[in-house]
Amino acid sequence: MKNYKIDLRSDTMTIPTKDMLDCMISAKVGDDVWEEDETVKKLEKLIAKSFQHESALFCPSGTMTNQIAIRVHTKLGDELICDKLSHIYNYEAGGISSNSGVSTKLIDGHYGRIDRDMIDSSINVDDVHFPRTKLVCLENTVNKGGGTCYDIERIKEISKLCKQKKLGLHLDGARIFNAIVAKSHQPSDYGKLFDSISVCLSKGLGAPIGSLLIGSHDFINESRRVRKSFGGGMRQAGYLAAAGIYALSNNVKRLKKDHDKAQFIGECLSNLKYVKNIRPVETNIVLFDLEDSHLEKFKRIMFEKNIQYSFMAKNSVRFVTHLNFSESDLEKLIKVLKSLN
Ligand SMILES: *Cc1c(COP(=O)(O)O)cnc(C)c1O
Repeated sequence: MKNYKIDLRSDTMTIPTKDMLDCMISAKVGDDVWEEDETVKKLEKLIAKSFQHESALFCPSGTMTNQIAIRVHTKLGDELICDKLSHIYNYEAGGISSNSGVSTKLIDGHYGRIDRDMIDSSINVDDVHFPRTKLVCLENTVNKGGGTCYDIERIKEISKLCKQKKLGLHLDGARIFNAIVAKSHQPSDYGKLFDSISVCLSKGLGAPIGSLLIGSHDFINESRRVRKSFGGGMRQAGYLAAAGIYALSNNVKRLKKDHDKAQFIGECLSNLKYVKNIRPVETNIVLFDLEDSHLEKFKRIMFEKNIQYSFMAKNSVRFVTHLNFSESDLEKLIKVLKSLN
């Protein structure tokens, strides 16, 4: 029991399986800065095709794909619109301003989701006093909102508005496959609504490294240049891309298992006295607040049982389910959570 550990801090904590590693070892590689890595090209084509966009670019991280997209969509001094819970605003080290010299108009949405009218009223009028509004960024699922998904009809309204107002529309789709599985959609349903999409392979899909930026030929050509300037041009990156190809082929449908486990945890928590509040569980994230009186006990017992999780605020706990969190881990977790009541 001593070495037993449950890690619910993030779905980035997964370790590549033997099958994934086998694919990586046997990848055909070349220098990708010279555009000679067959496996990287294969991955980029695969994802572009599934989202029905023209092109894609393999990058080391989702922060980089988001930051490249912001740079390509904007000019120095422009403004972008996003929800106040957005990853691009909260967790990318201030890159919107330091990488692109762009200001941010924050919207107080609904668990991280914003709608057409909120955006419409946040667009600056054409007047020298104001920064030019250039870009709208959505996040789906919303990490800080508790893994919430957009209703695709709301995205259609936003997409239409952005076309009318000539604004770029970017999706931080670090967990877009969680939304796709939860809503029984196809990647192409989302592809046609956005000018650019960032997808992480290293979250629920279980690859060790990698994100993809998806967009038109012109957009991706420009992004390739920005990637180089950000230091993200990689050489024999096909070893990593092979993990991504494996993940897209094998680890998408199984996300449902992570969602079911999260749902089960959510139901259990909602019956416990020491849980003050729990966000609706829609995908693989469970976000809840503890009663003050139970905070210390919760921390102590979870530490003793070697169950790791993260705090999003003082009393606000996040569990993220993933492919290394098994059925027996779930049973053990539920037992511990109930024992705390
Ligand atoms: C993880 C994450 C990213 C990108 O993170 P990296 O760690 O840089 O790959 C972007 N957006 C959201 C919502 C995320 O959860």
